[in-house]
Amino acid sequence: MADNRQVAPGSDLAKPLDEAAIREFSSKVRGELIRPRDDGYDEARTVFYGGFDRRPELIVRVKDATDISHVIALARESGLELAVRSGGHSVAGHSTTDGGVVLDLSEMKNLELDVEGHTAWAQTGLTAGEYTAAAAAHGLATGCGDTGSVGIGGITLGGGVGYLVRKHGLTIDDLISAEIVTADGELLRVDSESHPDLFWAIRGGGGNFGVATRFQFRLHEVDEIVGGMLILPATPEVIASFVAEAEAAPEELSTIANVMVAPPMPFVPAEVHGQLIIMAMVVYAGEVDEGERVVAPLRALAEPIVDMLKPMPYPEIYPPEEDDFHPTAVARTMFIDTIDRDVSQSILEHLRASDAPMRVAQIRVLGGAMARVPAEATAFAHRSSRIMMNVAAFYESTEERAAREAWVSHFAAALRQGEGGAYVGFLGEEGEERVREAYPESIWDRLAEIKRRYDPTNLFRLNQNIPPAIEQ
Ligand SMILES: Cc1cc2nc3c(=O)[nH]c(=O)nc-3n(C[C@H](O)[C@H](O)[C@H](O)COP(=O)(O)OP(=O)(O)OC[C@H]3O[C@@H](n4cnc5c(N)ncnc54)[C@H](O)[C@@H]3O)c2cc1C
Repeated sequence: MADNRQVAPGSDLAKPLDEAAIREFSSKVRGELIRPRDDGYDEARTVFYGGFDRRPELIVRVKDATDISHVIALARESGLELAVRSGGHSVAGHSTTDGGVVLDLSEMKNLELDVEGHTAWAQTGLTAGEYTAAAAAHGLATGCGDTGSVGIGGITLGGGVGYLVRKHGLTIDDLISAEIVTADGELLRVDSESHPDLFWAIRGGGGNFGVATRFQFRLHEVDEIVGGMLILPATPEVIASFVAEAEAAPEELSTIANVMVAPPMPFVPAEVHGQLIIMAMVVYAGEVDEGERVVAPLRALAEPIVDMLKPMPYPEIYPPEEDDFHPTAVARTMFIDTIDRDVSQSILEHLRASDAPMRVAQIRVLGGAMARVPAEATAFAHRSSRIMMNVAAFYESTEERAAREAWVSHFAAALRQGEGGAYVGFLGEEGEERVREAYPESIWDRLAEIKRRYDPTNLFRLNQNIPPAIEQ
């Protein structure tokens, strides 16, 4: 770099990298550099969600913590915006940037499993699916969410709500330690003994505090599960009863119920296409015989339209994915307490009122192990929330977006109960007020103070941002 000054993030002094700066930088890093003129640039700049057609100045596929340190220095000294990417599934498009630098962790996929000790060190370029498959080869698992292609980097830093949430808690509840490169380029090992403040903050505080290179997770014995997809007709009674059964069930059972328009998929009978259904994904992580008994009341709620519940190896719950699927969607996340018959009726009315080809109200019943962790133990504090609710409408053209946004806002407002709250992992680009909804005030203040200590210039700002507290 020609100029070693520290440039305030976002300042007008930020400038494109010149050839000399790039040459000097490339002599220091082991990872591949990809620039706008390079082959593979378009693929390398693509993230999961469509609609983020951004053109980074530089993408660096880092190989190790030293590379990460160099990328951080480059961003700090140039003032260019820094996007940190693990699996690229940011709902807000935060893992890409126009004119900035992308720190791409996708080649850091090392995994060290301690099968005897039931722990694993996982580099953050691994996806949830890759991690789950490797651990499952030994009958072990850490809960990671519902989609295999999501990166363990982003999901862990947000909290991680998945198919083992009621049995084993959030992904962060199995986080034993982490390695983080902070804004000054230093690699820190963080756990309950070493930098406990930072360890607390990264369990729900997102990418605000540094770049996580690897995580040490606890693993649980999860071998054969009873689960899969169950499709039921969506009536107010069936929705409310499904939620009641899911809440009353033993905590081995976690469910994700999508109330949606039946898609024209081959396994859905043609006469149901276009009708409102509950497409539920179900996991019972315990003895198979008991699992069959526990899922029976769900099957009995109505004549199932599709019943694929069966004993299966745990990783089969992650369906195969298409590489070139890049949906565009508007979504809103919240926590609510109750889904009774009236709320269910309102869900159905709102879904009927939209003509978006794909629209959904997703219901995740919480509780169990997740709720036993004290609210102040991690930056994710919604421990007593009973239900996570996400509503979304997909769209194909930008002209449609405003209508989809209006519908989603209206729907979310109608569902709101009490304080609301938000899960940071599902937040879009919704503004500071919504980021604050992800954290109770005392948690927010504590996060801002930790941010001030570890990232005083807000270098890591392309995220659900918690600005550094102002020094008193
Ligand atoms: C289809 C889909 C399904 C989902 N399902 C679930 C689910 O079941 N449960 C759930 O809890 N969440 C779920 N999510 C939300 C998901 O956890 C977040 O979007 C998460 O941030 C994605 O992680 P990523 O690494 O793939 O994303 P990226 O876009 O790579 O990262 C997102 C942000 O996280 C931060 N970040 C990522 N990696 C690092 C790192 N190594 N160090 C520092 N900061 C980092 C950065 O700020 C980055 O902008 C889902 C998202 C999608 C799109």
